[in-house]
Order: sequence, then structure tokens, then C-alpha cells
Amino acid sequence: MQSLRFKAIDKLNNSTTDIKVESSAKITAIFGENVFTIKKARQFLSDEAFKSLLSSVRGGKKIDRMMGNQIANGIKAWAETKGVTHFTHWFQPLTGASAEKHDSFFTIKGDGTPIEEFEGAALIQQEPDASSFPSGGLRATFEARGYTAWDPSSPPFVMEIGTGKTLCIPTIYVSYTGESLDAKTPLLKALVALDKAAVDVCQYFDKNITKVTPTLGWEQEYFVVDAGLANARPDILMSGRSVFGHAPAKGQQLEDHYFGTIPERIYAFMRDFEEESYKLGIPLRTRHNEVAPAQFECAPIFEEVNLAVDHNLLLMDLMTRVAKRHSLAVLLHEKPFAGINGSGKHNNWSMATDTGVNLLAPGKTPKTNLMFLTFFVNTIKAVHDYADLLRASIAGAGNDHRLGANEAPPAIISIFIGKYLSEVLNQVETRVGGKFDEQDEAMLKLDIHKSIPELMLDNTDRNRTSPFAFTGNKFEFRAVGSSVSCAQAMTVLNTIVAETLKQFKKDVEASIDKGEKKEIAVMHVIQRYVVESKKVLFEGDGYSDEWEKEAAKRGLPNVKTTPLALDAYLTKKSKTLFESNDIYNHIELEARHEIMLEEYIKKVQIEARIMGELATTIILPSVIKYQNVLIQNIKGLKDAGLSEAAYASQTQVLEKICKHIEGMSSGVEAMIAERKKANALTDTREKAIAYCDTIKGKYFDVIRYNVDKLEMLVDDAHWMLPKYRELLFLR
Ligand code: ADP
Ligand code: MG
Repeated sequence: MQSLRFKAIDKLNNSTTDIKVESSAKITAIFGENVFTIKKARQFLSDEAFKSLLSSVRGGKKIDRMMGNQIANGIKAWAETKGVTHFTHWFQPLTGASAEKHDSFFTIKGDGTPIEEFEGAALIQQEPDASSFPSGGLRATFEARGYTAWDPSSPPFVMEIGTGKTLCIPTIYVSYTGESLDAKTPLLKALVALDKAAVDVCQYFDKNITKVTPTLGWEQEYFVVDAGLANARPDILMSGRSVFGHAPAKGQQLEDHYFGTIPERIYAFMRDFEEESYKLGIPLRTRHNEVAPAQFECAPIFEEVNLAVDHNLLLMDLMTRVAKRHSLAVLLHEKPFAGINGSGKHNNWSMATDTGVNLLAPGKTPKTNLMFLTFFVNTIKAVHDYADLLRASIAGAGNDHRLGANEAPPAIISIFIGKYLSEVLNQVETRVGGKFDEQDEAMLKLDIHKSIPELMLDNTDRNRTSPFAFTGNKFEFRAVGSSVSCAQAMTVLNTIVAETLKQFKKDVEASIDKGEKKEIAVMHVIQRYVVESKKVLFEGDGYSDEWEKEAAKRGLPNVKTTPLALDAYLTKKSKTLFESNDIYNHIELEARHEIMLEEYIKKVQIEARIMGELATTIILPSVIKYQNVLIQNIKGLKDAGLSEAAYASQTQVLEKICKHIEGMSSGVEAMIAERKKANALTDTREKAIAYCDTIKGKYFDVIRYNVDKLEMLVDDAHWMLPKYRELLFLR
């Protein structure tokens, strides 16, 4: 029987591609078509209900039962114009993905009349039977069930799947006793904390500022491969990445893919998922080829963080589904191919005021300049003080394959700010006598606004190797993994900046109490923060070995693996931080830590299993077939009376094959034995470390080394798994 590999290749060769890129309407014509926007709310709600919704969206006000009913009716009326019959609470359990449970509007009244209805109660709160979502023991400890509750700050939307249409209500997900069981709840709390802390500090500069909204613009990297080929790779299907595969003769060394022309089949797919995204109000803006072959990126216009996180989750879901229509498979994994660049999700982050100011954009007047410097330096201080937590926020099995692998930001958290701002901070730090006084107007008048934007925005003063870089008017957290939600990274970042700003205010107040003028007090605290946190600043090559040494000298943490990185969540400092800002209580924190460790274990376990299975049931049988061919051939030549020299090469290949079979099989056996030992461990952290250091650390590379060598020895026609060259270049 022909293997799936060759079937897929045949299909690709014989397919008469009729790629139709629909001449789609203008983006503005379809943008937000499937979203219950404020504008639609206006249209479908009574004045009263509209006001209630608006004050909930903008001011976080509670919606009462009566208004809830009215709003629900309005949303239903709108959804029905789109042919929607079902609704779901759309939430983000700690699996990292989004979850849905569909219910229909259809119901039967007491007297037997069938009707369609959607009550306020159904809009506002639901009880999914969610006993199999990860809870880290929380639900077991407290209550058996959790419930979902509407998050009015993210608008309801209609998801189209094939011909089915479902109304999705974004919700949080909490246990009956109030502990959060999802990614959204802590994020919303962190955004509130940041808003409050930032508004307080803004008061020093502008009394008109009453709200600060953190903003996020993510850049999503991903691979696209032919679905037929991907389906012939059980490792890709099961774990999202190829556990075997020899490097192709041509990889990314020519760098001919980066920003190259987008292949037509991919282009059609992009157009398709972009259109779906626009309908859902995801403001995609950029698309291009990435560095690795078959790797691409898309990025939207930035939005308020909560919405941006939801949109990213929706996009990942959409891409995966739309790809199927095109017989393509999207790989969101951080490292689908060894030896080829992995994928990340840069998180561009800033803060916007309700007066229309970007707090990380250098100002035009001395006052706004000082405001910029304040938020800029506070962010640096936050990253410096809580580098371990930021590192933990991006930890995961997928990212472990990527971080520090000479192509991605290292596991050391450092900040790049560029030449000009380094110079500014230098000046702040080395003020003669270390003091500012009222004559120091010059300091406050630094012409930051004129020089920075041009320098940073034209790309000349950028450093691509930094995990946390200032890029002109925002910070870019580059170490976030491509497959994960931005929620965790954003929860941590916004919390640590909130905490730092709170401390900043206290410090400034203390100086003012001592009789210093406000601006001078601000300047002095900024100066102290620059001194205290300057060791986190690094302008050089983050991928270099020298940096690792230098960072160690500076005492910067460099935790390379997930099980250890996650320890940061449980330090006393972390518990104090999250509790005092009302993000997580210590029980939630411990539960999350447990869930993340468990997720790590499961992912490595899946990879280990699929490795063992492929080695034994796919690689070995095809190698044996080829081995027999060689044996027959050698025997035949011998029987024909030829001298040893005639079959020396064949013998040599045969010997190599035997050696690598041995290496592969004994590796698998030993790995399985270690898995048994690890599974017997009761402590989750110890188990995660065993999976990391022993099962993955000791055996993955050995097994892979032997399999990849076999790939280079065995007759291509006998090899069952699609090769890297096919996965990366055939489409
Ligand atoms: P690059 O790849 O050079 O970093 P891109 O243009 O691809 O730049 O991505 C920049 C991202 O940063 C976009 O998603 C953009 O919306 C986002 N961004 C720009 N300004 C802000 C801001 N003030 N806050 C958050 N994100 C921003
Ligand atoms: Mg970027």
C-alpha cells in the first residue's frame, strides 16, 4: 500500500489548483459585521437598556435583572437577523484555548408552546458542566461547579462555522466560591489595577486624565503546511511539532523567504481568514513571510488589552479552521521544526489615557516629557524587579524548545531601549551632585520627542535579539510563545507595572512631604529607579554567549526550563504582589502553578509517547524493509562469487543502519522506563522536573539523532514520514 506520504505528494502533483481569491468587498464594508458593536446596541436597544450597557462597558457598572432581560432581547434580535439559532458563553479555561457550550434559543413554555427566547439570566450567567477543565484542585476543594459570567467589556459576536452560526458571549469563568478558573478574570483585574495606579501617577502631570487603558498589538507568527502532508505526520497531529526530521539540504540559509512574495495558495488562505477576521472586528493590518520557509506573520492594529487578547484567541481558532478549507494546516507551535526558526508572538504594549495620550510616546512639552519618562522608567523598574515573574509568564513546553535557542530571545529577561534613550537615562543618572533643582529646567526640557520617534520608528535603532524592547512608542515583549494566549503575559506585565507605579507615587509623596517641589521630587525618584534597575538594560546581542556570561555577572536570572521558571509564582514576593493588587489570592496562585506544571507534564508526555510510537511502529518497520533489501543484495553478490569489495558500501550502510536502530530502540526503551518512574512521583513539581531533565533532557535528542541518521540512510521510497523538504517547500 502506498504510504500517506506519497499519496499526499501525488495529490499535490496532480491537483489542478484553481485558487480563487474572491474579490472581496472593501474591508470597511464588512468590518465588525458579526459583532454586537455599540452602534448596533444603539439600534437594537431601548434608550434605557443602551445606557445601562454603555455604563457597564465604559464604567464597569453592574447590569440589573430587568435591564439584563432587555439587553439579552436586543442581542437576540440582532443575532436573529443573522440567522443565529444558538448561543454560547465563550470563555477561556486554563487549557490555553477558548471553550464553548452551545445552547439554543429554542425552549418550550409550561403550556407546551415552543418559543425562542434569550433571557437576561442566560446572557449574564451560565453554569457549564465543566468538571473536566483544569482547576488545580480548586473546584474539588471548594465547590464542584464553576460558572461563567458575562464580560461586557468584550462585545458579543456571531461565529460562523460552515453554515452554522452561533452567538458567542465573552465571559469570565469562576468557581462558586469566587476563585478564578480562567485566563480572563485575572487579566481584567490586572487592567483595573493598572488603570488605577497609572491614573494616580498621571495626576502629577495632567488632572484631566481619569482613565488609563493598557493597549496591546500582537504579532502572530505561524507555519502553514499542506494538510495531506501534515496528516501523514502523527507527531505533528498529536503534538503540533515534528519530533523527527533531518534538516533539508536547503533550509533558511538563503533567507530567501523573509518578506518574499507570498505563495499563491497561502495568499488565498490569508485572504480568506482575514475576511473572517474582519467580520469579527479583528483589525488585521499586516501580513508577510517570516524568516523560515513556510513561516508567516500577521498583526492587527493595537487595541485595548482585553479585546486584543480575545481577538488573538479568535484569530488562532479561525486560522486553524479556515486552513482546512484550503487543505492546509496551520502550525501555531513555538517550534514545529528543529533547526528552523520557531514562532513567537510579540506583544506590543503601551498605555493610553482618556485624553488621547500614549504614555509611552515621548512628549512635546516639558511636562508631557516628564510624564513619558515617568512611565518609561517605571516600566523598566517593574521588569527589573519582577523579571522572574515575566519569565514565568511565558513559560511552557513549546517555548522551552525556542527560548535561548540562538534564534529567539534568551531566557534572560533584559530590556533594549536604544542609543538615544540610554543616553537620556545616563544623563538622568549622572547628574552632577546627583541632585536636581529648579534651575534644572534643561533636564525637563530634553528634546526627547524630536529625536526618539525618528530614531526608533525607522528601524535603524532596533535590536531584534532583545526579549523586551522599547520600539519608539511602546514596549515589545518578544518572548511570548506563538501558540499561547497573551493573557498570562499581559496579566503579569500590567500587574507589575501597576505595583511599581503605586510604589512610585508613595516615593514621590515622601519627597514632597520633605518639602521638595513636585517636578523635582518626580525627577529624584526617577533617578533612583534608573540606578536601581539599570542592570536589566542591555543593548548588545542577546543571542550571544557573552551575554549569558555578562548577565550571570550582573546577577540576572536565567532559568531555562518551565518547571523551574514557574517557581517564581510561589515566592513570597509574588504572593504579596498578586494578593495586594487583588489579582490572585494565594490559593488561586498555587492552583495555577499546579495547572501549569500539569500542562507541561502532559505535553512532554505526549511528545515522548508519540516519539516511542513512531520509532517502533513507523520508522523501525520501514528501516527493516530496507535492511532486508540490502541483505538480499549483499547475499546475491556474494553468491555470484564477487569479492567483498563489490558489496563493501552496502555492508557499510547496513552496519550504520544496525547501529542507529540500536541507538533508537534502546533510547526508546530507556525513555519508557524513565516515564514509568516519573509517573510514580506524587509531587507535581518533581514529576515535571523528571519529564524535563530526564525524559526530554536525556532521551529526546538521542532518539531523534538516530532516527534522523536513519532518514539519511534508508531508501527514500521506503520512508513513510513526509520529510522536512516536503513539509516546508511543497504547497
Ligand atoms: P514590527 O514588526 O516592526 O515590530 P509591526 O508593525 O509588525 O512592527 O507591529 C507593530 C505592532 O505594534 C502592531 O500590532 C501595532 O498595532 C502595535 N502597536 C503600535 N502602537 C502601539 C501602542 N501604542 N500600543 C500597543 N501596540 C501598539
Ligand atoms: Mg515586532
